[in-house]
Amino acid sequence: MIDFHCHLDLYRSPHWVADEAQRRGVGLLSVTTTPSAWTGTARLAIDRSAIRTALGLHPQLASERKHELSQFDRLLPETPFVGEVGLDGSPEHRSQWADQTAVFRHILGACSQGPQKLISVHSRRAVDPVLDLLDQFPNVQVPVLHWFSGTRAQLERAMLRGCWFSVGPAMLAGAKGRTLVSAMPQDRIVLESDGPFAQTQRLGLHPWDISQSYPWLASIWEFNQDRVEATIRANELALLSTVDREPRGL
Ligand SMILES: [Zn+2]
Repeated sequence: MIDFHCHLDLYRSPHWVADEAQRRGVGLLSVTTTPSAWTGTARLAIDRSAIRTALGLHPQLASERKHELSQFDRLLPETPFVGEVGLDGSPEHRSQWADQTAVFRHILGACSQGPQKLISVHSRRAVDPVLDLLDQFPNVQVPVLHWFSGTRAQLERAMLRGCWFSVGPAMLAGAKGRTLVSAMPQDRIVLESDGPFAQTQRLGLHPWDISQSYPWLASIWEFNQDRVEATIRANELALLSTVDREPRGL
């Protein structure tokens, strides 16, 4: 079981969460929000084989941190994992739109060169602009739309683009999230916690809480839980194999 979108560095006790995930055998993709956070966050993965670190620049920080793009470019060869990146069209972040699009375009351009990257993409209230930009960079073949919250039509468009989807308990707790998940291709879904921000029943989620997704998926797919777990495991390996020749460590 792998958590494909977790802000490990932003927990109050990142070392404890990392140790606990490792002890429970839960893999995690530790996404970052700024290039300057990457080196310190990557240190949390040392000697913890279940953790991989993604290099990111969150759209909500685009204006404040766009000067870190040169650092992004320098660090990019160090990892096949990129995130959290993307666009955020919420009213409170709209004023940064020009910077957001410039930063995301730069990142997609950088990811288009060299080996394939797995990219965890934020698309809140910005699915069409995210897909418009992805269409300009066809070499980016493994975008994973994290906590997709667009419309059915946007979902169809994302599916045609070959996007993957990371879904979690907080998304599945809502009727809209479940309706969207039911329309996603079963072989393109992996799990995420989006901890420590995402919550269920007012509790911040930890990586191992992604198992709360299984009963939801079982009812959506009308599978028993063993078949859900086997499906997710097959998807995890298929997704990792796009960027990592030996995905079993995660
Ligand atoms: Zn996130």
